[in-house]
Amino acid sequence: MDKREFIKLAGLAGVAALSNPAGVLAASPARTATAPATGPKAPFELPPLPYAFDALEPNIDKLTMEIHHDKHHGGYVKKLNDAVNGTAFASLSLEQILNKVTAKDKAIRNNGGGHYNHSMFWTWMSPKKTTPSDKLKTAINSAFGSWDTFQQKFGDAAKGVFGSGWAWLIVTPSKKLSVVSTPNQDNPLMHQIVKERGLPILGIDVWEHAYYLKHQNRRPEYIEAFWNVVNWPEVEKQYDMAMK
Ligand code: MN
Repeated sequence: MDKREFIKLAGLAGVAALSNPAGVLAASPARTATAPATGPKAPFELPPLPYAFDALEPNIDKLTMEIHHDKHHGGYVKKLNDAVNGTAFASLSLEQILNKVTAKDKAIRNNGGGHYNHSMFWTWMSPKKTTPSDKLKTAINSAFGSWDTFQQKFGDAAKGVFGSGWAWLIVTPSKKLSVVSTPNQDNPLMHQIVKERGLPILGIDVWEHAYYLKHQNRRPEYIEAFWNVVNWPEVEKQYDMAMK
């Protein structure tokens, strides 16, 4: 089933509902916490997975996808809603929450990051084999020197996360491409917390829950498998939005 069919079946409003699951993609990385709210506010909802649980086999197995989406992501959404309830965060969009959250707001940091990161992560993968366009390749080659250097850097960032976290390809506030990593469920939208701010246009979840059932302790093998399922047209779309 392709994305459009899925949307029809799921009764969603349109392509935008799927390609902008967290309601934050139109945002500029330079945005501040006082930016107007663009996305949904609490209570947040778990977006449906835009393909079947087994659609990424053999790269990512069905049971991992099912537990990851329904239980892990579902849990972040529920705990985020509980955490913002009755606080000043309740009137903010998810992007604004992330811009504003500090290390003191532990539950909102972890679960707000968890909701955003996973909402984006599902869109960055596709059951259909895709390839980067010449335009995206040129942008990445000029930022990193070569495509191989980019993949190496991204892979090294992912391998280098100690414990749980994420590696990201981001567009910085000065519109530069950069590879960074964050621990736990932090992300580069957390302006009060991270060193390098930016808008993620690709990210890989390197928590063990993302790969352990199939790849066990072999994180590098999972990273290799991830490259097989990257949704390059979606990455390019998000790149274009971030560069505006
Ligand atoms: Mn995860």
